[in-house]
Amino acid sequence: VHDRFYQNSPSAPKTSQPAGQKGFVFLVGAGPSDPDLLTVKAVKVLQHADVVVYDRLVGRDILELANPDTQMVYVGKRCGQPSMKQEAISALLVDFAQQGKQVVRLKGGDPFIFGRGGEEALALVKHNIAYQVVPGITAAIGCASSALIPLTHREVSRSVTLITGQVVTGALPAWAGLVSSGQTLVFYMGLEKADAIEQGLMSAGLSGSTPVAVVGQGCSEQQTVVTFELNQLTQTANALKGLSPALIIMGDVVKLREQLMQTAHAVTQSHSQPARAPAY
Ligand code: SAH
Repeated sequence: VHDRFYQNSPSAPKTSQPAGQKGFVFLVGAGPSDPDLLTVKAVKVLQHADVVVYDRLVGRDILELANPDTQMVYVGKRCGQPSMKQEAISALLVDFAQQGKQVVRLKGGDPFIFGRGGEEALALVKHNIAYQVVPGITAAIGCASSALIPLTHREVSRSVTLITGQVVTGALPAWAGLVSSGQTLVFYMGLEKADAIEQGLMSAGLSGSTPVAVVGQGCSEQQTVVTFELNQLTQTANALKGLSPALIIMGDVVKLREQLMQTAHAVTQSHSQPARAPAY
């Protein structure tokens, strides 16, 4: 099936702007999936882009907000193939900007939270290209709110740590630093590392009965929320294999969800319609 949005088409166009016209890059956060959670600024820059460079976590209903004649360049994974290399993506942005294009680099969540936005910005700086960052709602913030888990709550949690599950394998000394009372932990990309996370935190002294939630496909109509305890993390992750993207939220704040759900109304992709009944 030909899919105009999810084909890899990284080659730069042959035509360029009149000489002397300067390109510009917006590094834009697309938020956690629901197009209604884009910033107004993200929508504005999308509508004025010459080219949009985007990856896997950006959904079709967001891409459709760009003008039909905007060049859409997919740089994410496809059919088991890896994404384009980071250097190649940065080079592509530089290339488009040097042709005088208005470029939107669109990323899921926020560009500067586990999104390599910093690396791309450094490449732009290196090539003296003007740019701006448009923040987006990062997955931790979006998923927690939409799953009714306050990441901080008076007398329950005073801090929250966002951490990637990808660096926590092996006997890293970092575990102890993550274990303190009154702290909420949010693991991005953690489901495949559930085993290491469970063992690491428990051996550093975190109780096996610490409340945990996994939020899959957060802020979409397919949102799934599963709650359990830390000592069931590995087994739950195995049962949820394939749930993607997914976030792990850990800490006593997870327990508030049950009570908060009582009169809550789900905020899903509602557009102009009233929000649908929750799929809790
Ligand atoms: N820049 C992004 C994060 C990119 S890393 C941001 O700020 O949100 C990708 C990881 O983010 C996924 O593996 C998953 O852990 C998390 N994630 C992103 N979108 C998500 C969503 N809608 N629901 C649950 N987790 C999500």
